Amino acid sequence: MRKNVIAGNWKMNKVLSEANAFVDEVIEKVPNSDNVEAIVCAPFVYLPSLVEKAKGTNLKVAAQNMHFEENGAYTGEVSPVMLKDLGVTHVVLGHSERREYFAETDETVNQKTAAAFAHGLTPIVCVGETLEQREANETMSLVEDQVKKALAGLSNEQVAETIIAYEPIWAIGTGKTASSEDANEVCKHIRNVVKEVTSAETADKVVIQYGGSVKPANIEELLAQSDIDGALVGGASLEAESFLQLVEAGA
Ligand code: PGA
Repeated sequence: MRKNVIAGNWKMNKVLSEANAFVDEVIEKVPNSDNVEAIVCAPFVYLPSLVEKAKGTNLKVAAQNMHFEENGAYTGEVSPVMLKDLGVTHVVLGHSERREYFAETDETVNQKTAAAFAHGLTPIVCVGETLEQREANETMSLVEDQVKKALAGLSNEQVAETIIAYEPIWAIGTGKTASSEDANEVCKHIRNVVKEVTSAETADKVVIQYGGSVKPANIEELLAQSDIDGALVGGASLEAESFLQLVEAGA
């Protein structure tokens, strides 16, 4: 049985007092359930404080990006060694905003995914098509390509532990959600691709999230689908109350 993983991606939002207040508010309320895992994906600067607060609770703390190198002359970058040392457990990799604005490529996503495993971090690997690609019927082939490239060189055990987030770019922050059926069709395809490159057993274990305008009003319908195992949520994860509603829907 796969867990639902609900990850709130704050992106570049909140100041420290707001980040702390959010975690203080949700921390006791995140359910202790075998069905759901709750993660907050916060800006680097808040990670030490949030990890400290989350210790021994059901809330996990993720970074939103990292470099693949362990250390060295990479001004402005943060390494997997640094994240692991802080007690961070997860890292979002290849978000479409990083691909679009910060030159992230399938190759760097692959390097970062391997580096995450090398340092004991669980990667949340994002894939998804633009509106033009969807309209040109390229969604399935594009997503297949992104998944294969991101996972290249990983062992079956590592793939089984990877969280894949399917996020159609046209649905991110736009209020437009893919219909649950359309989202599930792509997630199912991703699971088949994982099966093709690993094994049926691995594909059965891999958690596949949907992301793109997920909110308390549509989460249940999405989670009811056969191949959607949680959500990567931007806007609706910024308020403690709606984040908790999303987590409870997954429990
Ligand atoms: P959204 O963002 O929920 O605000 O659409 C999702 C994401 O970018 O992960």
